[in-house]
Amino acid sequence: MRLNHFLMSPTYYGSSRIRGQTGFMIGSSVVVRTRSWIVLCLGGFLGFLTIGSTAAVAADCPGHPDALGTSRTLVVDPHEHPRIGTMQYRETLPLKDHEVVLTFDDGPLPKYSNQILQMLADECIKATFFIIGEQAKANPEGVRKLVAAGHTVGTHSMNHPLTFDRMPLDKAEAQINGGIEWTSAAMTDPSKLAPFFRIPGLMRAEGVENLLISRGIQVWSADFPADDWRHVSSDRVYQLAIQRLEAKGKGILLLHDIQARTVAALPKIIRDLKVRGYRIVHVVPATAERPATPTTPVEWLLHPPTETTPIARWPAVPNFVFAQTKMLPAPTLADLNAQTDHQPLLPRRTMAMANVAATLPVPGRDLFAIPEGSVEVLLSTTLSRRAATRLAMAAETPRAARSKAGKLRGHRTAHAAPAGAKHAAAPKSAAQKGAATHPTRVASLKKRAQ
Ligand SMILES: [Zn+2]
Repeated sequence: MRLNHFLMSPTYYGSSRIRGQTGFMIGSSVVVRTRSWIVLCLGGFLGFLTIGSTAAVAADCPGHPDALGTSRTLVVDPHEHPRIGTMQYRETLPLKDHEVVLTFDDGPLPKYSNQILQMLADECIKATFFIIGEQAKANPEGVRKLVAAGHTVGTHSMNHPLTFDRMPLDKAEAQINGGIEWTSAAMTDPSKLAPFFRIPGLMRAEGVENLLISRGIQVWSADFPADDWRHVSSDRVYQLAIQRLEAKGKGILLLHDIQARTVAALPKIIRDLKVRGYRIVHVVPATAERPATPTTPVEWLLHPPTETTPIARWPAVPNFVFAQTKMLPAPTLADLNAQTDHQPLLPRRTMAMANVAATLPVPGRDLFAIPEGSVEVLLSTTLSRRAATRLAMAAETPRAARSKAGKLRGHRTAHAAPAGAKHAAAPKSAAQKGAATHPTRVASLKKRAQ
């Protein structure tokens, strides 16, 4: 499949790639190389080759002394954290307080994407773009510009259907594949495509997520949108972006690089991010050569629980996904065998029941004896007079009744079998048979009459 390169790709965003791209870097993109070397030097100093550290932002963005910049690069492993974004999932990116990840969906659309690209370049900001296959098909150069500028590029389906939550899985897969194929086809080096996917309209569905995860693709929701796809003013987009960011203190901001209002709002958002002391984080996927940034599980929670905060919910049921195999392993007989080291399930209970049955005392025949005449009394309280009379007569002549009541006896047998099984060990004298037959039949008839 086309996605194999996600698992085997030799390099993503490695230093060699950045050097190799110099040939088609243009204008401010040269900054990418300069910053990358600084980041690499710091990374080497810290013992981590590829983990960006805090950088002196202004100095790294020549010509833009007040640039917001990109404070660090976060390397994530989709296999370890397959679903991110607190709008929908438990986990989100392991950001520190006041760290922001910018994401742009639905492009590239030259008219607006190019403007946004220029704004990001002027501020030395690295973002993540989720590409629609149809857009990449129509504007492959737009995809190449994103890669050349050092942004992370993931995908967002072939033509953005808002039905991922209810479409058949094969159709969803075709949508996913279409987006990936056209986006990677637009790239000079398809291995630059990040295994990141955002479901159109965030219309998540368990099956789609599991499909993506099984293929090593990380499912990206977001921590807050700015509603820039709605018919609101650019000022409103800016306000929502900042208000929602302030409410959470950090996180993934969802924007669209195909909207005029987003283009108009972005300078104000960036200005406010600076004023309020926020820092931009660039997210890239882990590769064999570029290990994931070391994190602890609790860092993937937006607000990690503290010892003083009681938790009032049960732990989430783990979602087991076999990323390495296409088929779930079939259970073997040994998995069900009570003789193995596994905890036996049904076999143990069955054996326990058998033991109980073997040790229970045999019920005395008196238990089944009913005084003469009581059959009619019992029947008359629960059945119509006609039925009671007929069945009472049958009870008096068991042999004759056998053929008439055959159907009923079958019914009785089905219901009385569990209890009757325990009687099996008792010796069956003729008297006991006769005594036991009456009340048993009465019980079953009573039940039927109800
Ligand atoms: Zn979208």
